[in-house]
Amino acid sequence: MASVAAWLPFARAAAIGWVPIATHPLPPPPIPKDRRKSDDEKLIINVSGRRFETWRNTLEKYPDTLLGSNEREFFYDEEVREYFFDRDPDIFRHILNYYRTGKLHYPKHECLTSYDEELAFFGILPDVIGDCCYEDYRDRKRENAERLM
Ligand SMILES: [Zn+2]
Repeated sequence: MASVAAWLPFARAAAIGWVPIATHPLPPPPIPKDRRKSDDEKLIINVSGRRFETWRNTLEKYPDTLLGSNEREFFYDEEVREYFFDRDPDIFRHILNYYRTGKLHYPKHECLTSYDEELAFFGILPDVIGDCCYEDYRDRKRENAERLM
C-alpha cells in the first residue's frame, strides 16, 4: 500500500489553495472541539454542488484514505456544516460506493486519466477495483500507455 504521506500534501493544498514546498512535517488536521465523537453521524459531502450523504462509520472503514481519515476536516465548512470538494461529482459517486460496498467500479465512459486523478486525490489505489471492472480498467490503461508513447 502506498503511504498516506504521498497524497497528503496535494490534497491539503487543494483544500487551502496553495502548493506545499514539501518536506516540512505537516501540522495536525483541525478537529473542531464542538463535534464530539458519538456512535455515528450522518455527514454531508458536497462535491461541486452535488450533495452526497453517508455515515461517518462508512467512511472510516478505510482510514488510509482522505475521506476515511481526519484529513477530511480540512474540507469542512463550519458555516454550512458540510464537507466541500471541488472535484468531479460523477466520478465521486463511484468513490463513495467503494466505502459502502468495498468494491470500486470503473465507469467505462469516463476518461481513464480523469478517473485516476480522482482516485489519487482521495487516496484510493486502483488495486481495489472489483473483478467485474478490473479488466476494462487494465485494458484502457494499456491503450492509453500505447497512445502516449
Ligand atoms: Zn464493476
